[in-house]
Amino acid sequence: MAYELNAKIRGLSPYDPIDGGYRVRLDANESFLQPDAGLRASLLEAAASVAPNRYPDPLATELCASFAAYYGIRPETVVAGNGSDELISVLMSSFLCKRESVTVLAPDFSMYSFYAGISEANCVTFQKDGDFSVDVDRLIRAVNRSGSRMLVFSNPCNPTSLGLAREETRRLVRSVEALVVLDEAYMDFWDQSLVGEVSGYDNLIVLRTCSKAIGMAGIRLGFAVANPKLTGALKAVKSPYNVNSFTQGIGAAVLRKTEWLRGCTQKILESKRSLHDSLCRISAQRPGRMRVMDGVTNFVTVRMPDAREAYDFLLCRGIAVRCFDGFLRVTAGTASENEEVANGFSAYLNETEGS
Ligand SMILES: *Cc1c(COP(=O)(O)O)cnc(C)c1O
Repeated sequence: MAYELNAKIRGLSPYDPIDGGYRVRLDANESFLQPDAGLRASLLEAAASVAPNRYPDPLATELCASFAAYYGIRPETVVAGNGSDELISVLMSSFLCKRESVTVLAPDFSMYSFYAGISEANCVTFQKDGDFSVDVDRLIRAVNRSGSRMLVFSNPCNPTSLGLAREETRRLVRSVEALVVLDEAYMDFWDQSLVGEVSGYDNLIVLRTCSKAIGMAGIRLGFAVANPKLTGALKAVKSPYNVNSFTQGIGAAVLRKTEWLRGCTQKILESKRSLHDSLCRISAQRPGRMRVMDGVTNFVTVRMPDAREAYDFLLCRGIAVRCFDGFLRVTAGTASENEEVANGFSAYLNETEGS
């Protein structure tokens, strides 16, 4: 018998981040900061106290309490996930029935439409304006007209780095007849979160992650925050032991280091500012070649028609950034990484001048 893969997975290939030997990795929006010696000791201690023969706490109670304390919210509103990626996947597959519609924005995080496809949802794409801004009234009309049961988007947005102000987001959530999955993966870098007000909405789920400002991409940890009806449903449909014991222990230990975490966020923001300023200076010397966006995240988005060529040029110099259609996304790194990537842009613009 010749086994045939079904149509929805036949053409897929594994997620393939740039791998291997690039000196400078500014392609995944991770934190460039390593835990200091004190934090490292706490993490080892947390890992050492795990009983690996026992299943983890299915509701990650202590971890959710640490998360809630760090953000000043109620622990009952929190569900932990194996990265926010897992939560996106669970939301798509459980909160939507086959062929129900979900509205996604473009450009935005690619995983939304990926998981929508696997879940056999109907994915409706809302194209942002030419400057990557979101016209909230137009979006509300589009969601309601399409009959979407879900709207998912990142705020601030990956990959544009732009944010939607709180009052606009509130208005959006109040005006759409759909569940809003508000992915705040980068909201540690901005101050317009709705994470503290989920109880005021019956259709809002806020996602957060430990992969960016918290600097823990390697332990795979994300959170969903919502009212009790929604968190209850999410707890019921997720796989029971989705967050392993080591991640629960280490995550709780990290989230208790409030001062350290706030310090990291500030350092990352300073790095972003300095990267942004150097790229702006380079751009100003060569008018018309690239446009550096003013964003509110830990990365800088650079629009250029020849993004692909610039990307290849940087890769040849051992510098990995992320390439999109007509723009590049550069994660803020250490001072020397930022300098390297800025020099790379400069060299690229020089070498391709007038061509
Ligand atoms: C990085 C990122 C995530 C994080 O995913 P994890 O699975 O928690 O690492 C989620 N959403 C967006 C928009 C991101 O950029």
